[in-house]
Amino acid sequence: MRLVLLGAPGAGKGTQCKHIAAQYRLLHLSSGDILRKERAAGTKLGKKAQSFMDSGALVPDGIILEMMTKAIKKAPAAGFILDGFPRTVNQAVELDKSLAVNNRKLDAVLNLKIDDRIVAKRMTGRRSCPQCGAVYHIDNLKPKVDGLCDNDGAKLVQRSDDSPEVVANRLKTYHQQTEPLVDYYKNNGTIFDVDADRAPDEVGALIFQKLDDLAKCEA
Ligand code: AMP
Repeated sequence: MRLVLLGAPGAGKGTQCKHIAAQYRLLHLSSGDILRKERAAGTKLGKKAQSFMDSGALVPDGIILEMMTKAIKKAPAAGFILDGFPRTVNQAVELDKSLAVNNRKLDAVLNLKIDDRIVAKRMTGRRSCPQCGAVYHIDNLKPKVDGLCDNDGAKLVQRSDDSPEVVANRLKTYHQQTEPLVDYYKNNGTIFDVDADRAPDEVGALIFQKLDDLAKCEA
């Protein structure tokens, strides 16, 4: 299966992609995670992406397309799920073109739908462990000891782009540049809307139902 998970930042794409990838043995490719790794490693690519990410803007298409087409080529035969990519219509068009070179296309796009106010609250309250990557929330997923990771006791940090100002900018960027992808995929593929304002396991169940139906239709 070749899948894309669309949705505003904070809609829960990362969490759902992990489950979907495990269930269907797909390669989970998160453009945000790849960029953060490049930054942490201090690579040329990471340095180029830094200022865009810190302000909540999108990294230019050229950089992203090169990075993601390289990553997609490494996907196993079972396929992949893309998380955070494509994020502009141009990226989507280029992705379709690069798949078409090998007579391939996306099987489905899942669109996580959620209100801006809910995602803003989710993101600004998010805290993570710089050592093991565990994610917490100041209201609804608290660590046992305030501010410290349950796994290794490290001091929890807020992602620099989860501050209220940057979150507002990321949401604006999403509506201006990424939301038009919903219409693009309505005209060029199979897109399913999923209500993401629910507990993660309920959202997961809705997604699995749609993907299982799709797999049955294609069998
Ligand atoms: P994420 O973790 O997916 O929210 O991504 C974090 C940041 O990385 C975004 O706010 C953008 O600055 C950048 N980024 C991730 N994916 C893309 C993409 N497909 N196109 C442009 N910028 C991206």
